[in-house]
Amino acid sequence: MTDEAVRRLIIGAARSLFDRKLTHGSTGNISVRIGDAILVTPTGSSLGTVQADELSTIDLDGRTLHGPKPSKEAFLHAATLRARPQATAVVHTHSTYAAAVSCLDGLDPANALPPLTAYFAMRIGRLPLLSYHAPGDDSLEDLAETTARDNTAFLLANHGPVVAGATLGAAMDAIEELEETAKLFLLLRGNSTRPLTPDQVERLRPPA
Ligand SMILES: [Zn+2]
Repeated sequence: MTDEAVRRLIIGAARSLFDRKLTHGSTGNISVRIGDAILVTPTGSSLGTVQADELSTIDLDGRTLHGPKPSKEAFLHAATLRARPQATAVVHTHSTYAAAVSCLDGLDPANALPPLTAYFAMRIGRLPLLSYHAPGDDSLEDLAETTARDNTAFLLANHGPVVAGATLGAAMDAIEELEETAKLFLLLRGNSTRPLTPDQVERLRPPA
């Protein structure tokens, strides 16, 4: 795929997230790997208005190669893509329901959401919760990289989800599934629920 085609895909995904209120203000960022480089949305940009020629190009260590300054969260994308050679895209949002879950007390840090539906089990599998880190705290980078080696998605405490995919379409599908499952989880709180069994989950688990 050409650089131009990837830029168009990123902008299409950005508008889709913004138009459906899965991102707000200048939150949320999208990246796609092309060879040894990563195209990522720039710092301070809104996914509702960012343009194809405004994307930043960074390397896999998160250093800027050219273009505007990358998102302050670009290091999360680089760390996730380093950890997952089979992934080409990463999407991060502060989407309402997933962010709400990330603020709850008493979650299982190994898996913040129960497997309520088959599609969550297939597209996400397991959702580790990473402890709160202040913006700019780069100790999150190592934690994200280590976690991403065995997980396609993780949830940043008091913040939001980071999801990788073999393609940008797969990462988008997965982060939307995560958001919907977070919504179900919150709707069902206080009710007795019956998540999928470990055996049912195992049959659906995405490749590590
Ligand atoms: Zn963020």
